[in-house]
Amino acid sequence: MMTRPYLSVVVPVYNEEANLEALFLRLTTALEQIGKPYEMVFTNDGSRDSSGMLLEQFHRQRPDQVSVIDFNGNFGQHMAIMAAFERVRGDVVVTLDADLQNPPEEIPKLLAAIEAGHDVVGGYRKDRRDTLFRRFASRLINSLRARITHIRMRDQGCMLRAYRRGIVENINASNETSTFIPALAYSFAANPTEVEVEHRARAAGKSKYRLYDLVRLNFDLMTGFSMVPLQMFTMFGILISIMSALFVVYLFIRRIVIGPEVQGVFTLFAILYFLVGVGIMGLGIIGEYVGRIYQEVRRRPRFVIRRILSSGSGPELAQEASGSD
Ligand code: UDP
Ligand code: MG
Repeated sequence: MMTRPYLSVVVPVYNEEANLEALFLRLTTALEQIGKPYEMVFTNDGSRDSSGMLLEQFHRQRPDQVSVIDFNGNFGQHMAIMAAFERVRGDVVVTLDADLQNPPEEIPKLLAAIEAGHDVVGGYRKDRRDTLFRRFASRLINSLRARITHIRMRDQGCMLRAYRRGIVENINASNETSTFIPALAYSFAANPTEVEVEHRARAAGKSKYRLYDLVRLNFDLMTGFSMVPLQMFTMFGILISIMSALFVVYLFIRRIVIGPEVQGVFTLFAILYFLVGVGIMGLGIIGEYVGRIYQEVRRRPRFVIRRILSSGSGPELAQEASGSD
């Protein structure tokens, strides 16, 4: 076996055939320049294009540096990173997108901050190159997250990040099913920091996140890292109860002073509909948490690995490596 690398670079890949060659070239060049032993761990997250083949080629070109974890379906970006985290050997672990939105040339910036003593280094994107809608939605979600969780980061969506090995081990130990890795890492960090990184438009292909996926991801973030949605709901319930009680007293006094009256039926309906809406929303919020609990107690494998091409050895069989134990 080889000695342990200093740096492990983790890349989740889902239908990125048009980007992989350029990525591999630039990433290798950048890592060679750093001049320390490194490995790259790619997770093929059930790609249906030729990404899997390309990754296998990279492994054959550099068997000592490149590992490929091949999922047998699409389990999502964060699970792809999780699977890689379970196998990284480096002291420092960097995550990166495969679409070249995060320039590999920025990695030394992250490493410098790690060397300066930080255990989690987040990137925040300078001049973010995404659609106006994505940028706007991100700003909204970032400020909502800042309010309801204890996580302080400027740009939660930036996946160009570096972690000390200990942080990654804690992430692995948490064994969470639907999670948000930057937030999880942050919750274990003793001395996190952030650095500004370049951002590019996607080199080729389309974003793998549809609106629904983005909404789901952010629900995972909010419910996975905060109880505030539930607590706010309780608070709101208390508030409504107090107001209703006052209203009843008021109506009672009116009944005595003015006598019987039948008016304001529509106002009543408006209030009723509003409250029914709030009630349904509350059920939904509770449902999110119950769903999370259900997912965790079921203890199904978080992902299934078909095959692993690990650096420094031949292909491993999937069976022993699959799932999350
Ligand atoms: N990705 C993945 N599985 C998925 C969706 C995305 O592994 O189910 C990878 C994708 O190949 C890319 C990274 O996660 O390397 C970020 O995805 P994308 O660029 O589509 O997200 P965006 O930049 O639009 O937020
Ligand atoms: Mg992208």
